Amino acid sequence: MIPIEKNEYYDVTFEDLTHDGAGVAKIEGFPIFVANALPNERAKIKVIKVKKGYAFGKVMELYEESKERIEAPCPIYKQCGGCQLQHLSYKGQLEYKEKQVREVLARIGKLDLETVKVHSTLGMDDPWNYRNKAQVPIGEREGGLVAGFYQQRSHEIIEMEKCLIQQSENDKVVQVIKGICQKYGIRAYNEQKHKGWLRHLMVRYGVTTKEMMVVFITRTNDFPHKKEIMKEITERFPNVKSIVQNINAKRTNVIFGDETKVIWGEEYIYDTIGHVKFAISARSFYQVNPEQTKVLYEKALEYAELTGTESVIDAYCGIGTISLFLAQKAKHVFGVEIVPEAIEDAKRNASLNEITNAEFAVGEAEVVIPKWYKEGNKADIIVVDPPRKGCDEALLRTILEMKPKKVVYVSCNPATLARDLHVLEQGGYRTVEVQPVDMFPHTVHCEAVAKLELIL
Ligand code: SAH
Repeated sequence: MIPIEKNEYYDVTFEDLTHDGAGVAKIEGFPIFVANALPNERAKIKVIKVKKGYAFGKVMELYEESKERIEAPCPIYKQCGGCQLQHLSYKGQLEYKEKQVREVLARIGKLDLETVKVHSTLGMDDPWNYRNKAQVPIGEREGGLVAGFYQQRSHEIIEMEKCLIQQSENDKVVQVIKGICQKYGIRAYNEQKHKGWLRHLMVRYGVTTKEMMVVFITRTNDFPHKKEIMKEITERFPNVKSIVQNINAKRTNVIFGDETKVIWGEEYIYDTIGHVKFAISARSFYQVNPEQTKVLYEKALEYAELTGTESVIDAYCGIGTISLFLAQKAKHVFGVEIVPEAIEDAKRNASLNEITNAEFAVGEAEVVIPKWYKEGNKADIIVVDPPRKGCDEALLRTILEMKPKKVVYVSCNPATLARDLHVLEQGGYRTVEVQPVDMFPHTVHCEAVAKLELIL
């Protein structure tokens, strides 16, 4: 029996937050998810949708506020949807992320939290203006250009002069380029009509070098007033080192098209994390919060406890970021990654840093690593940093056969981390400690790194 009805009102007390930041209240044990509600808050809610095992509601009146509730600093917080936790104090956010990790490790990972040490989330001292990459859709309103974000659940572009989690330099460049384009009569892309030219602007910022890259994502191959526009941008922003055009002629929500060309300056900008320098191209994957990336990678390095004699595999290595960190302390690192361009970048980054003990291979981790193992290549330590869906079963099986003495698991999804830790625990590993790291303040995204040791 479902104890609630659609369109009815109920007085509830929220107990928890879901992984996507909604408040959870229960009526006779039946969970109701309500946006913008925090644990310990009392409210009158209206039930708006009822499913088999849960329901959705909305707050009609907030009777009692959480002491962690704050006024979201961003004026467009509710319309945008890019952040989900600005109404929760930063301390509350860090606690929420730790709790989330603990909860899934116990429930899905079946770990005993008396023996596994789960640390407090490592947060930022100043958790604002951290994103080094802006990807901004361009539209038109009453003849003028707008640069901003898609309003939640719509395709309307809302003007955004400032994003509080974005490097302010990126916002400034977007606004100025918008003005320059406007001056030269550049037309924004129109989705419905599939007409117009400028679809998105992307800006990347190398925080340590201050170098910037601007990418124009356009519908067609031409570039009206190219010379004048390049001149104005580079005069105004001398730290713009690279201007790139990406052409996306398709009717699609996907931002980038297949063709990318440098139209002014360099192909790469540079940034450093710790002692490692990275070349970043328009299409390279690069972590968006470099300050916290350093914290995360240092933790991974610490957990690996390298002495200089170890052979290490870095699975899901991307552009080799973790591999190059590890290579400084290991005998040899083998990185594996599915995207060929990322492996090209990884190799370039290795030589850029004169790192000669790191090798990179293109392929699926779950295919390449078992093949290495069959050929007799074993690692002392395996580091994995899979996408949200976690590690492939075949990879976990190979780890259990290969028996590296340590596994360091870097995860962007606590639920799949917990699932995979359970498999590794069943196969003879023990999770020693887990460190949540806040890579994306004010959003619900939660990153964690776990250290496992072979005990059997
Ligand atoms: N360690 C890197 C990247 C982590 S993101 C960093 O910190 O920057 C996860 C990476 O896994 C992505 O680069 C993605 O392309 C890659 N990937 C996804 N599925 C894969 C698979 N089956 N085998 C190998 N790599 C994969």
